[in-house]
Amino acid sequence: MQIKPVFQKKERPIVIAGPCSAETEEQVLISARALADQNIDLFRSGIWKPRTRPNSFEGVGTIGLSWLKKVKEETGLKVTTEVANREHVFEALKYGIDVLWLGARTTVNPFSVQEIADALAGTEIPVLIKNPINPDLKLWIGAIERIAKAGISQIGVIHRGFSYHGDSNYRNVPRWQIPIELKRQFPDIQIICDNSHICGRRDTLLKVAQKAMDLNFEGIMTEVHPTPDEAWSDAKQQITPAIFQELTNSLVVRDESTNDIEFLETIDHLRHQIDEIDDELMNLLGNRMKVAEQIGGYKKRNNISILQPTRWNEILEAAILKGNIHGLSEGFISVILKAIHEESINHQVQVMNEEVVEH
Ligand code: PEP
Ligand code: MN
Repeated sequence: MQIKPVFQKKERPIVIAGPCSAETEEQVLISARALADQNIDLFRSGIWKPRTRPNSFEGVGTIGLSWLKKVKEETGLKVTTEVANREHVFEALKYGIDVLWLGARTTVNPFSVQEIADALAGTEIPVLIKNPINPDLKLWIGAIERIAKAGISQIGVIHRGFSYHGDSNYRNVPRWQIPIELKRQFPDIQIICDNSHICGRRDTLLKVAQKAMDLNFEGIMTEVHPTPDEAWSDAKQQITPAIFQELTNSLVVRDESTNDIEFLETIDHLRHQIDEIDDELMNLLGNRMKVAEQIGGYKKRNNISILQPTRWNEILEAAILKGNIHGLSEGFISVILKAIHEESINHQVQVMNEEVVEH
């Protein structure tokens, strides 16, 4: 699969901004004029809005496309909107929208993605694909593949975080390792961080955008509204054009690499240490599993069950305390130990079953 960049610009960040929803012609044009002054790369605005519950504002529909067309004519900005079905694609193409995006609720559904892919066949419009609302990398990749198979070559992705049931400071938790893995598998794809839908609030937008820059993401997509408190959708996370300018001005964009010899030598040395520690970790984990297998055999011969909850709780609690001394968070220790424990159990189960076969 050959993926070409949606944006030709090489310097980071690529900037996409505009209101969550197009509400009135005036609101769209005021936003666009302010953002054109800031030289953004793409103006966003939702025309058809996928809302969680009915009776919310579901977008102005096709009339909004004519407002986006005016934005192009008046400001020269390129424009993008979300499409969720075949009709949206045809309408958007008719009005000369420059880039289309697939929303998180569309990416989850292969039928919808395929319908959009079929409608796109034969066109050359660039497409940005948001991650699905659930943390399923394969589903995200599947959507990219469907759009690519329809003949679209300029494809980018938007990381907008993942639904999470529970307490969180985020509206959608970022789970950065998922877009990082996507980038590992598709190094040519441009990744845009939608900090607005990750944060769901204004005060953390810069922190998340900065993290995206530190991870070498190509750009950001932020919701910008002339009067955010009065926005018809996502009011809490939208910011004014002036605040947005402060945000982009504060972003520190670091170089991906350098030719500075001293830096390269130092980093090489440190990476070498990391590699050695990783080797040690693998040896230790392998040894731990061998001991677990011995325990499995011993338990089997004495007819004792594998899982012993009291022992497991003691291990976990002790590890959290020890981890704390080394500056390791409770969340990290608990995730890593649970994974090790699960692997140990699998090894023990294997030993028990092998012994059954032997007898
Ligand atoms: C949006 O960008 O306004 C939107 C609806 O986003 P998402 O698909 O990420 O929820
Ligand atoms: Mn929104």
